[in-house]
Amino acid sequence: MEATDSRFKRFIFIIIDGAPYAIFKGLLENGDLPNIKKHVVDRGSLNKAVSVFPSTTGPAFIPFFMGLYPGTANIPGIRWLSKSDFHPPHRFKRPGVCSYMGIDGLRFEADLPTGFPTLFNFFSPVSNIYNLLTRGCPPAKNRTRWIKPFVYTYAHFSHRWRFVNQIATQQLYKAAETGDKFIMCLFPAVDTFSHQLNTQSPQVMQTYREIDTAIGHLIHILQKANTLQETLILITSDHGMTDTHTHIDVPQHLDDAGWRCLHYPKVWRQGAVSASMVSGNGMTNLYFKNTLRGNGWGARTPFEHLHQIGVITTLTELEGLGFVAGQSETGDIIVQNRTGQGRISCHAQDTSREDLQNVLTPLKGADPLRFSYQFTGIDPLGYGVYYKNLSPREALRETYNSPHPDGIVQLWQIFKSERTGDLVLSAESGYDLRARYEVPEHHATHGALIAEHLHIPLATNYPIAEQCIRSVDVFPTVLNLCGHTVAEQYIDGRIVK
Ligand SMILES: [Zn+2]
Repeated sequence: MEATDSRFKRFIFIIIDGAPYAIFKGLLENGDLPNIKKHVVDRGSLNKAVSVFPSTTGPAFIPFFMGLYPGTANIPGIRWLSKSDFHPPHRFKRPGVCSYMGIDGLRFEADLPTGFPTLFNFFSPVSNIYNLLTRGCPPAKNRTRWIKPFVYTYAHFSHRWRFVNQIATQQLYKAAETGDKFIMCLFPAVDTFSHQLNTQSPQVMQTYREIDTAIGHLIHILQKANTLQETLILITSDHGMTDTHTHIDVPQHLDDAGWRCLHYPKVWRQGAVSASMVSGNGMTNLYFKNTLRGNGWGARTPFEHLHQIGVITTLTELEGLGFVAGQSETGDIIVQNRTGQGRISCHAQDTSREDLQNVLTPLKGADPLRFSYQFTGIDPLGYGVYYKNLSPREALRETYNSPHPDGIVQLWQIFKSERTGDLVLSAESGYDLRARYEVPEHHATHGALIAEHLHIPLATNYPIAEQCIRSVDVFPTVLNLCGHTVAEQYIDGRIVK
């Protein structure tokens, strides 16, 4: 009975890019977001959810729209390099190096794995505002399709991000008035003002309040059309953020140590033997040329080999580097910092299903994988205990309120992608991994595998009791609330209630 009563016919999905859980919750409790409180949270709930690694726009959108981890979707960063496909510039062939921050942004949708549904496939008519994951959205319903490149570029140089959010607001009202069944609206200005200033600057706080006012007007539109009761409203963020006091120059550090490093915008340096593809900028994928095996830059170089040639020690001595992670010859994931080493191993509970560990195979709802974790020295992930045979859900619960939430599964998932680096670096709070060529200079960071970047608000006008929620769970959960189902074989997430 309740299941049918609770079904929604419409879904309005708001992403406030870069809103950390703690700041959002603080504003809500302070009375700064009265409309969101009254019409969304008080009727439903505010949960602390966990985003993905890397916690950055682009990769962190995939869980919401497809229920997949970035590693499963083979998009392990806002920039990446494919060692097997990397080759010098060529008229027709794609060079195997990508930055969605530039012209490659248009390729984001085409780079997603085929055969997996998105939220847009379940509703009609739909509307999309600014979000870059548009698969399944008819081009004519991508309301900011033509203006986005212009307004983003204009705002980038003029810092007029309020104007960009105002356009989002106008389009959101129009879509609601038109009666679209699924409306996706991204507000980019909290992220961009945070990078430009800091995470709690007056401009950022004002932006939250303006979004709240927009939600108030949206509710009014829904009430007028008598569709508020049948509309599921979800307000979330793709990642949190922290203020930045120090930029770590990873490419310069590698150059100095003798591993000449490619990095944006210098991706065609002569004689390079390493590459740093930074995201957010608290995370970077590092690649090392290994011409002994395979084509291009070769296959993934095992952690042990990089340790032997001194790369790991060179990196862990960097002040502000949280950890370096890589893949062992055995397939385990190794996490290293200056004081200790952790090891994540994963096996299928049913050993006849080893195929589940293959690239591009989602976790499956039955949680057939089991994770173990142990460490030597001081635990680099800060858990301080050994774990054995945890289901993915247990691994989430055990680490939820730690400094590295969901670190075991998140580090495992990212190495599923062929495009993930030989090494993945995560910065400590206060640091980022890009010291040059970021214009304007970034004063706030995301991307890292730390609580401040991973914890995101999940406000819904329908109560969700579950305390431990991953962003990959949002996709099957909202579909379920709207009366749709998605086969477990297509997703990493599961329904939470
Ligand atoms: Zn950002």
